[in-house]
Amino acid sequence: MKMIIVADEQLRKAVAVAASDLALEQVTADDPEEVAERTRTFECCIVLLQASVLGAGGPGLFRELKRQNGQEGRSCYIIAGSDGRDIDEQWRAADAGADDFVSADMSPAEMRSRLSLAVRVAGLEKKLMDLNNRLRLLVRTDSLTGLLNHAAILRELSMELDRAGRDGSPTSILMVDLDRFKLINDNLGHQTGDRVLVTFANLLCRSCRSFDRIGRYGGEEFLVVLPRTTGEEAASIAEMIRSGTEVLHLEEGASPLKLTCSIGCSTAEGSDRHPSSMIATVDSALFRAKESGRNSVVSFR
Ligand code: GH3
Ligand code: MG
Ligand code: MG
Repeated sequence: MKMIIVADEQLRKAVAVAASDLALEQVTADDPEEVAERTRTFECCIVLLQASVLGAGGPGLFRELKRQNGQEGRSCYIIAGSDGRDIDEQWRAADAGADDFVSADMSPAEMRSRLSLAVRVAGLEKKLMDLNNRLRLLVRTDSLTGLLNHAAILRELSMELDRAGRDGSPTSILMVDLDRFKLINDNLGHQTGDRVLVTFANLLCRSCRSFDRIGRYGGEEFLVVLPRTTGEEAASIAEMIRSGTEVLHLEEGASPLKLTCSIGCSTAEGSDRHPSSMIATVDSALFRAKESGRNSVVSFR
């Protein structure tokens, strides 16, 4: 683990002796800007700051490091350093955001125990942040297909409609439903059904652009949010998905498996931009596509 140090020679030496057998790579810095710059490049680090060396930039640096903490999964443990054991100075450092305090007159044993605690806490904090990030991702993700789940795709739709309402661009959505999917489960089993859903989800990802959002709305039904997309553009993306599904290579045992899908498209422009009314419209379009014999695309405004 990296330890960035801004301290006078006496304290640096005391730290070097105490930390000689700890897995700490010491990096010295000259001023507050350099410290803030360096901490931005490390995911997890310990910072040892001596107020008398930092000068006027010290308090601002403590605030900046606390602000950085947790951003983009970075964790930073702050140790305030001092020339002696001044209780008032310890209080001020703790108020500013320091996690611990060391001074040059500490015994090497005490200094070492403080530093090894810092290594442990900084590592645990980093682990906690990584786990939280994973949880945040899991909460948004459909576990079978890896697409956004129902709640997450609706949130994306709502955010996109808010954004588009401000810049006046059109937003389109597609509701894609696999045709007669129940027959695949009934004839070939649920596991085959699951594999087909995953293969189909991959086709959706290939057919859409990097800024589109794709979610599993329910069982074999998928919602695609197409930002800054007119009805005509949406219909052509839908047609690409429909025709791509027909030729999807799905082999189960010896026999090739035929799959088709029906797609409803809906586009919002102007002031009518409510997620629920768009979903209602796209549902009607999908219903019409099913009614018209399936394997088709129907667009509603
Ligand atoms: P339609 O053309 O009218 O849409 O017919 P359908 O058979 O696709 O529609 P229906 O709603 O009757 O059946 C949907 C099926 O999707 C039933 C359900 O068992 C299946 N399904 C839903 N979620 C999953 C899943 O996660 N895995 C598998 N294997 N099947 C699923
Ligand atoms: Mg279906
Ligand atoms: Mg369905």
